[in-house]
Amino acid sequence: MRTLENFINGRFVAPAGGETEPVLNPATGEEIAQAPLSTETDVDAAVTAARRAFDGWSQSTPATRAEALLKLADAIEEHGEELAREEAINAGKPFSAVLNDEVPVMADNLRFFAGAARTMEGRAAGEYLEGYTSFIRREPVGVIGQIAPWNYPLMMAIWKIGPALATGNTIVLKPAETTPVTTLQLAEFAAEFLPEGVLNVICGHGDPAGQGLVDHPEVDMVSLTGSVDTGKRIAASAAATLKRVHLELGGKAPVIVFDDVSMESALETIAGTGYYNAGQDCTAATRVLASSKVYDDVVSGLSEQAQALVLGDTLAEDTTLGPLNSARQRERVEGLLERRGKHVELVTGGSEPDGPGFFLEPAVLAGLEQDDELIQREIFGPVITVQRFSDEAEAIAWANGTPYGLASSVWTRDVGRALRVSKALRFGCVWINDHIPLTSEMPHGGFKQSGYGKDLSVYSLEDYTVIKHVMAKLD
Ligand code: NAD
Repeated sequence: MRTLENFINGRFVAPAGGETEPVLNPATGEEIAQAPLSTETDVDAAVTAARRAFDGWSQSTPATRAEALLKLADAIEEHGEELAREEAINAGKPFSAVLNDEVPVMADNLRFFAGAARTMEGRAAGEYLEGYTSFIRREPVGVIGQIAPWNYPLMMAIWKIGPALATGNTIVLKPAETTPVTTLQLAEFAAEFLPEGVLNVICGHGDPAGQGLVDHPEVDMVSLTGSVDTGKRIAASAAATLKRVHLELGGKAPVIVFDDVSMESALETIAGTGYYNAGQDCTAATRVLASSKVYDDVVSGLSEQAQALVLGDTLAEDTTLGPLNSARQRERVEGLLERRGKHVELVTGGSEPDGPGFFLEPAVLAGLEQDDELIQREIFGPVITVQRFSDEAEAIAWANGTPYGLASSVWTRDVGRALRVSKALRFGCVWINDHIPLTSEMPHGGFKQSGYGKDLSVYSLEDYTVIKHVMAKLD
């Protein structure tokens, strides 16, 4: 049995209190490692290392930082199979999906951050007061506390460290308690290209490890990818020290299907992106709004797609649906299904299959109403809901009618309608006739209670910098 350790100041170290807890394979329920249960003492050691490293790293040139990120991208590709295997075992994802979909994206993300590091600038200098020259410096924020979720452990770690390192910050990163394995590997690979203390990883729970980071006076900014509740708690705690906060929170993506689409390919994409990662995706296409005319076809078509998914061993080539990440997450999803109300029809799925692991058969639910808990709360499981709308205005009102605002899609061949609806949707992203494709150059982030701050794109690098005005008297 492996015993994992924190990564502080360029080396693996056991947690100060010596306590660990089991890490499980969600597909089997078996223990795969012991992980540190870090306390404030470990947080303090990691923050001290990051603070010490800041002077040097923040003074390095963009070219130096870009080179480190490019080498890390190469390492991710070289170790792609190993990382995909570990991620499959620890996070319960199909191995082939991690290897073919996620590893190339992560390498590309890092290469983008490397290139973008060299483009950051303040606005041009100028004389705005007679006898003075003003100019803008864009500087790193300092020591960043980064807190990641369990649904894409490695990819979310990369979306966090990439822009922060590119802009000269140093980091203490905490993976989710159930999925520390690949984040520690990432730190080990990165240590070959980074000075000691620039990237530190501590394992442990939201409290005390995560909370310790949020409260630490030497942490300048906290960046969380996680649930809305955790985001609110962190924003409130961070107010005590007026830390900057960057929040990528939950989602409840509406998928508006009008009656003029090519139904077969639309439903294939919607089911593919609704059940991807067992629906544990903040942008998952799980809240379908179907026009009255095509509602029945949408419900039956999605059910066929759900029934065609292959649950099983996450290392097997033909597996297309993995388990939920933990017993707790499966119970949460099952609770939502049980409380669904008599008017809601469970068209397919929703049961636990025989055998070990935290699997749940992919479900389609029909006949939902806008106020239903299943519509208002993020499910984060392999469950697609379908509502019937009567016209464009109703579709927009329902799509916008939840507390979330991360991602959305509209499906229609009518260009005018697509543009009208995409303007009216209050979400950080709107896809037209597709769902989920992401690109390193474009921002990912929420409106409303899905949080604030952007991942990916140059906007994410800007979020990890502060603006300084320097004003020089000319005589
Ligand atoms: P979570 O909020 O329970 O945990 C996220 C992280 O926060 C974990 O590392 C956890 O240990 C830590 N944490 C919990 N309490 C804390 C506290 N008081 N102080 C500091 N850290 C604390 O979320 P989760 O269940 O791990 O992840 C699923 C959620 O993440 C979903 O809501 C999903 O939508 C969201 N998510 C959002 C995005 C996005 O880009 N917007 C991406 C992936 C996941």
